[in-house]
Amino acid sequence: MIRFEDIVDAVLAYNESADIDLIKKAYVYSAKVHSGQLRDSGEPYLSHPLAVAHLLTKLNMDETSIAAGLLHDTIEDTCSTPEEIKDLFGEEVLFLVDGLTKIGRIKFSSQEEQQAENYRKMILALSKDIRVIIIKLVDRLHNMRTIDILPPPRKKRIAQETLNLYVPIAERLGISWIKHELEEIAAQTIYKREYLKVKDKLSLTKEEREAYINKVIAIVEEKLKGFGKPVKIEGRPKSFYSIHNKMLSQNISLDELYDLNGIRIICDTEGDCYSLLGIIHSIWTPVHGKIKDYIALPKANMYQSLHTTVIGPEGHHVEFQFRTDQMHLIAEYGIAAHWKYKEFVESKRSGMVDQAEEQFEWIRHMLEYQHEIKDPKEFLESMRLELYSDEVHVFTPKGEVKQLPKGSTALDFAYSIHTDIGHHCVGGRVDGRMVPLKYELQDGNVVDIITSSSHKPNQDLLKIVKTSRAKSKIRSFLKEEQRESGVLLGREIVAKSIRDLRLKVDDYVKDSKLLPVAQGAGFSTTENLLLAIGRGKFSVQNIISKIVPAEILEKIREGNKWSVRELIKKVTSKKEERVGVEGIKIKGLDGVLVRVAKCCRPVPGDRIVGLISRGRGIIVHSANCQNIVDVAYEPDQIIGVEWDLPKDSVYQVIVLIKVVNRPGILGMVTNAIALKGFNISDVRLDTKSSKDAYMEISIDVPDSTKLPEIVTAIKSIKGVKSAVRINKHSLSNQKEPQGDGD
Ligand code: MN
Repeated sequence: MIRFEDIVDAVLAYNESADIDLIKKAYVYSAKVHSGQLRDSGEPYLSHPLAVAHLLTKLNMDETSIAAGLLHDTIEDTCSTPEEIKDLFGEEVLFLVDGLTKIGRIKFSSQEEQQAENYRKMILALSKDIRVIIIKLVDRLHNMRTIDILPPPRKKRIAQETLNLYVPIAERLGISWIKHELEEIAAQTIYKREYLKVKDKLSLTKEEREAYINKVIAIVEEKLKGFGKPVKIEGRPKSFYSIHNKMLSQNISLDELYDLNGIRIICDTEGDCYSLLGIIHSIWTPVHGKIKDYIALPKANMYQSLHTTVIGPEGHHVEFQFRTDQMHLIAEYGIAAHWKYKEFVESKRSGMVDQAEEQFEWIRHMLEYQHEIKDPKEFLESMRLELYSDEVHVFTPKGEVKQLPKGSTALDFAYSIHTDIGHHCVGGRVDGRMVPLKYELQDGNVVDIITSSSHKPNQDLLKIVKTSRAKSKIRSFLKEEQRESGVLLGREIVAKSIRDLRLKVDDYVKDSKLLPVAQGAGFSTTENLLLAIGRGKFSVQNIISKIVPAEILEKIREGNKWSVRELIKKVTSKKEERVGVEGIKIKGLDGVLVRVAKCCRPVPGDRIVGLISRGRGIIVHSANCQNIVDVAYEPDQIIGVEWDLPKDSVYQVIVLIKVVNRPGILGMVTNAIALKGFNISDVRLDTKSSKDAYMEISIDVPDSTKLPEIVTAIKSIKGVKSAVRINKHSLSNQKEPQGDGD
């Protein structure tokens, strides 16, 4: 068990002027409130906060953190209160202890929604003060070190949670010794049986492997005699976790795993790393594709080293890492090297603190976007991407390097430069070649983005981008756009109701009338009210009754005994064909987006009617669609719409034809259609019966008025039993049989 004196000694070793009184006070208080409590192991509970505080000294943490480490379980597990902690130890210590208590209360559940929420909280705590997360990590480390005492189900759950959450956080903070120890214990706990197997096997060959590594080291040392600078060479045993992972991911057995050991060479300067790499390559042949230069391109957690794998003596693979002392410090301590750095200040170049802040940008990213991403699944996904994934390094045409999560696309790159560039991005050039937006970036790509000022984002782009930044930017653009058309639609719906009463729209649909109504209904602006109406969340009748005098409203009620059919008849009776803008037009209103109903798929020329649907805008149905009668629930929903087409637009109709099953009949039918001058875009057949055959032919028509003439032509063919228009295919698309290879 750690004694209090051990902690004091450790702190004084790196900070002579540390406030030992504060730490002592925290110790005495913690001992008092935890007294009598025991851990599951039967040890006094105090041993846990002591161990946590001692681990914190290994990261050279400040006195405040160490005091908080000693006190971290007091609010949660004892009778002490936040007020008391604040009075005794001050605001800062309370802030840390409080943060830890809150994280401790998070219940980790397997349900995704819950899990997303927990990550959110974790990230939030992380952002406010990184020390909270470091203390939490160390707390978890000690709990993992003593996990064996717990009952198996709890053990497994905690181990799994450690792998899912704490290991990636340790990884991202760059504190690799904690990461390794956590994943090692967690993996051993979860894969107990495999662990014992691997351990047995490894111990059998232990001497042999040690002898091998020593032999390699001896050769290297001999060769480096002329190097002239001191270097440290150390053997590096691979962990169970990495062996296990390798066996799983490469699907090989333990016997096939020869490169269980690696060698690390720590040297003085960056230049030495490259020189040493050259020397090693002059002794043994490097394995292709295994040289990794994390010095020139550091990982997001600041990790720097040079890696290579060579074919060593007896043909075994040996992995080498080269790094300077400072790189080693960062490799082991990551963000905590921040504090460790004081030891280096005199001898090494400065600027590391700034670098640290810059490098931990992902924390800021997560924060910026975490409140914008509402769908928990998506949040988790982007969280995983930020936490787990490797990066690719790509370059701007000017040679500036950009770091993006692996899997990022050209469009992500565009958004990483500037939101506007993302919005207007239509494609890219990678290493001089044109690529689509969805092009997945590869290390070293030089990416040039092509923009067009008239281009704007759409829903489909959300499937292309991987980064949370790009997703949130696209989403907020779409939201704004939808909002605008929603407001427009809402305004038109109100205007239409006013027109239906034969009143002047301008007298009623204006701020002075609508704003009081909006505010009375809890909306801050008229726009918000109109938006709610446009989205079908607020009934227009509520508004009409407030802005229109009661006697006129009587008329509405009179006419309110309505029938959907009558209404449809009324709104579709005026026949005006107009040719102008694309698509379908709502009478008297430009620029509102409408959709064609999937149930009846009207084509131009059909009599149509609009249905204002709750939350989905205007859906255009065929006037004789049965569905609309079933779903319309108030007269206001039925709205007049009309076709409004450019001359050369083309629509697809599907005709189902029943024919006598005999050779040549398909050709006759398609010929008849072609002779009429129409294009066939799809043909589907069912010839299973020997008597009758069915065909479904998709024909491109400018509008539905042409259809009867086609159907008549088809019906006049001998052998055709019937031909009718249908709304969707019932037959599947048959592929031509493939040849037997060539
Ligand atoms: Mn604890």
